[in-house]
Amino acid sequence: MKYISTNKKADPVSFAEAALKGLAPDGGLYLPQIWPRLSDSFLDQLSQKSLQDIGFKISRLFVDGIDDDVLEGITKEALNFDVPLNSLGNQVYVLELFHGPTLAFKDFGARFMSRIFSALRKESDRDLVILAATSGDTGSAVAQGFLSVEGIKVCLLYPKGKVSYIQEQQLTTAGQNVTALEVEGTFDDCQRMVKEAFSDYSLNEKLQLSSANSINIARLIPQMFYYFYAIAQLSVNSSPIFCVPSGNFGNLTAGLMAQKMGMSATGFIAATNANDVVPEFLDYGEFNPRPSKRTISNAMDVGNPSNFARIVDLLNEDYQQIKRHIWGASFSDSQTRQVIKEVYRKQDYLMDPHTAVGYRAVQQYISSEQGYFSESKSTPKIILSTAHPAKFKDVIEPIIGKKITMPDRLKACLNKQKQSHVLEDDYDELKKWLLNHYN
Ligand SMILES: *Cc1c(COP(=O)(O)O)cnc(C)c1O
Repeated sequence: MKYISTNKKADPVSFAEAALKGLAPDGGLYLPQIWPRLSDSFLDQLSQKSLQDIGFKISRLFVDGIDDDVLEGITKEALNFDVPLNSLGNQVYVLELFHGPTLAFKDFGARFMSRIFSALRKESDRDLVILAATSGDTGSAVAQGFLSVEGIKVCLLYPKGKVSYIQEQQLTTAGQNVTALEVEGTFDDCQRMVKEAFSDYSLNEKLQLSSANSINIARLIPQMFYYFYAIAQLSVNSSPIFCVPSGNFGNLTAGLMAQKMGMSATGFIAATNANDVVPEFLDYGEFNPRPSKRTISNAMDVGNPSNFARIVDLLNEDYQQIKRHIWGASFSDSQTRQVIKEVYRKQDYLMDPHTAVGYRAVQQYISSEQGYFSESKSTPKIILSTAHPAKFKDVIEPIIGKKITMPDRLKACLNKQKQSHVLEDDYDELKKWLLNHYN
């Protein structure tokens, strides 16, 4: 399988090259040149498949250069946690993606990638430097996923003062091969600096850089698994609507990729906070990236979602086709708070702020847009729950007026000493730091 850039100005590359490079040399994002499809018999038997079965089957179609037994081991080990589908009644479901070590869905990508990278790397290779911008959860997942992996160094850029206390502790206390850079700017500044590093020829001569952001195709592969697994868990085989709380739109892109591979989905709901560039595009047909705004669902504070390029490519650069696949809506912090409170009170179900944005979007869809995708009332709506509420304790506790218990794996990092380097939001500063540190 070859991978091609969404900008179409770079040569097709192998899986190893697409994964280890992250961004294509023409600044585009990699997608498969020809879409693989799961067999009808596999799809018909989905309800009997485990997450690991699905994972291995899909990975095999995308990953070259790693033997079957190794790849099967990787998928088993990376996906060693539960992904329950909870019913909230009225055909509304929540797919809990937060049972991994850092309590957010980013664990899927990070745990899979770290193992894939180490299988692809050769002993003789230079150290690989994973450079990742994080709006909060990627950093901690990547720090955990790559911690103490031989031959790999991790450098995380996060916006100073714009991640939660717990997120910051998670990403600055890993130590060993993981370093955190605290950037005086927004997530978009971090993302821009990282992109600049990847396209800086002289830097790439000296360091072998790789990315762990959702610009990396290797991260999106494991995110397809749970879409299929959600359908496997429905009691009646049906074609659901997936609602995806979105920031950089990697998660929603993975859903479209799953659909390309034969997954039956009626449509996708793109739920955002005030950073509503994509819902606005869906309404007006214009894509206007702009600086991100701070919200309580901070992992979605993205003003220039990089996977938009993949969405457009996957749907043939056709606005009408994009609209037929995706409906979008954005919600304010006060709407988000209100829905957390309401669902907790009425259904005894506690959602983190990101999941709540998704829930609110489904509410709105049902009340005013039902039938947009020509579906029936009985079509299941599955909200991807992207993080555990305890991760956003500071926001949630005042809303529900109660203390929430912290899972043990989260407690572990809270008393450790934060270690980070403060950096200006300036690419030259980053370059200097990288060369000093890793060269
Ligand atoms: C990263 C993240 C998102 C956004 O996912 P994208 O793939 O960037 O759209 C949503 N919720 C949480 C909790 C996240 O960590």
